[in-house]
Amino acid sequence: MSSLTFTDSHCHLDFSELSTQTPELLTQCYHAGIQRIIVPAVSPKNWQKTLNLVQNKTTDTPSVLAALGIHPWYLQGLTYQDLDILTSTIIKSRAKIIAIGETGIDGKIAKQQANLAKQITFFNEHIRIANQFKLPLIVHHRSSHPIIYQQLKQNPVDFGGVIHAFSGSYQQACQYIDLGFKLGIGGTISYERAQKTINTLKKLPLSSIILETDAPAMPLSGFQGMANSPLKIIDVFNLLCRYRNEEPETIAFAIEENIKDLFIR
Ligand SMILES: [Zn+2]
Repeated sequence: MSSLTFTDSHCHLDFSELSTQTPELLTQCYHAGIQRIIVPAVSPKNWQKTLNLVQNKTTDTPSVLAALGIHPWYLQGLTYQDLDILTSTIIKSRAKIIAIGETGIDGKIAKQQANLAKQITFFNEHIRIANQFKLPLIVHHRSSHPIIYQQLKQNPVDFGGVIHAFSGSYQQACQYIDLGFKLGIGGTISYERAQKTINTLKKLPLSSIILETDAPAMPLSGFQGMANSPLKIIDVFNLLCRYRNEEPETIAFAIEENIKDLFIR
């Protein structure tokens, strides 16, 4: 086990629950075999903080890599101008940024805030920016598969992406894979009610899977009420292994290759 290496492909290290624990947390991650942590910023307020976290791997820390975007939960009060600022921020820090996101469409928020049209506009602008800068896209979904798929078909990504915290059917997974996406698998597979996603996971090609914690959100079953941590990526990996027939070494290696494929060019 100790020789296996991992990447947390989705961790909000900039959120105060985690940022107050660094650098000790990074050292612990390194000793657990975690080579990389990808931090997707969720709003303009987080961009600089996220960029400040970026660091190259040292002898006892993982690499911390940044993605910039606007999550559908944080659109209130934002305008097109914020998308222009996103573009200029990327130009200024291009070398530090490995993806665009977290973006996406959230069906529940769309109902509560009646902002579906705005979510769709911002999502498509993120696709445009990702293609412009030759970067992959990190996509949030909730009660929104049909609409996200429709947008992605009309406005495809050129450099792939990840459907973060994927939950859904095998057919939905295959639709995304056909459009160049990988599926981000996280702690939700520890939940009883995730049976559909677990069944999907058993059938997916290994080349389409990457792992994530979504820390500090989304604690694994049994850890609800506690802040999640990137260290839990090991538990997510062990859960995945339970549902796959391949050897753990094969799975770990394939997933690291998927990460390199998508994010490290
Ligand atoms: Zn997230």
